[in-house]
Amino acid sequence: MSGVLAICEQSAGVWNRMSFETLAAAQQLGRARGWSVAAVVLGQGSAALAAELAGWALERVYNLEHERLATYTSDGYVAALEWLLAQVKPDAVLLPHTYRTRDFAPRLAARAGRALISDVTAFRVEQGELLFERQLFQGRLNAEYSCDSAGPVFVSLQAGAFHGDAVEPGSAAVETLTAPLDDVNIRQSPEEPFRESAGEVDLTAAERIVAVGRGIGEEGNLELVRELAAALGAELAASRPICDNGWLPMQRQVGSSGQTVAPKLYIAVGISGAIQHLVGMKGARIIVAINKDASAPIFEIADYGIAGDLFEVVPALTELLRKA
Ligand SMILES: Cc1cc2nc3c(=O)[nH]c(=O)nc-3n(C[C@H](O)[C@H](O)[C@H](O)COP(=O)(O)OP(=O)(O)OC[C@H]3O[C@@H](n4cnc5c(N)ncnc54)[C@H](O)[C@@H]3O)c2cc1C
Repeated sequence: MSGVLAICEQSAGVWNRMSFETLAAAQQLGRARGWSVAAVVLGQGSAALAAELAGWALERVYNLEHERLATYTSDGYVAALEWLLAQVKPDAVLLPHTYRTRDFAPRLAARAGRALISDVTAFRVEQGELLFERQLFQGRLNAEYSCDSAGPVFVSLQAGAFHGDAVEPGSAAVETLTAPLDDVNIRQSPEEPFRESAGEVDLTAAERIVAVGRGIGEEGNLELVRELAAALGAELAASRPICDNGWLPMQRQVGSSGQTVAPKLYIAVGISGAIQHLVGMKGARIIVAINKDASAPIFEIADYGIAGDLFEVVPALTELLRKA
């Protein structure tokens, strides 16, 4: 194969949304380089997932199965994918930049004697050279990376850098393969997935987010934004000072030391737009900012800005949404 292989991620038969962003990126890269595009799903009994992938414009879908892939282990994934890569010989391997790929992808790339270019936000071709862009110093600088052509380039993609709904439909042949894992020493034994608390949330998967910042003033006022989030069916998120104060749990913090999110709609309420916050949410499709300071930096990246007092704007907006 001369082409690009997208590694799609699923857990217990449910896609990680970033798999579709990876497929979209793989299709774009395929078009830019004239490469064929294939995808792989790993698991046990994953035929239905592979059949879903076959509905996209891909050359081939690999359904890589083994009972030892029923749950994720880094040893199992690395061995299975190393074996697949030896047969498929892609020029580029794209992965979503998830917690899971952060665990196994560096090792997979190292086993191939290659580097992993991680958390990539864009790529372009210049004078025949393929360049991948990623951020440095908490988003203050963008750097471009190229890779020599002596093997596949491994690239993980930042959440929201590519749009999952841009995947082109089509049809692909599915090839089911049994990964040769019988004799592989798998050192990890996964336990039941655990949830930190009943209210645990995966902000990276949220379609709508209402995020609150220091402008809210005090903890008791959070109810205002909770109501707005409820009226929108949105998840509640926050800037760092809110989580540092213990007003919302850390898992709801967006930014360089929190989550990177890419919802369709992100409403920033009383958030100034510090760079450490922006790097976590600028991939949102539509950004709405509510801030009483019309010169707040958040307005520079907002699609819609409301320069006003959140204590007036938010209840009015909630009321309108409830009526609608
Ligand atoms: C190493 C490091 C990592 C960091 N990581 C993160 C991170 O992951 N996430 C993050 O968010 N920050 C992070 N920060 C902190 C970041 O630099 C900012 O301090 C923080 O984002 C500011 O939060 P804020 O916008 O809520 O508060 P502020 O900057 O204080 O802004 C509050 C805003 O509310 C507005 N406001 C006030 N009252 C009202 C009102 N009544 N109506 C409307 N608007 C009002 C003000 O005009 C102001 O713009 C990090 C900092 C460092 C040094």
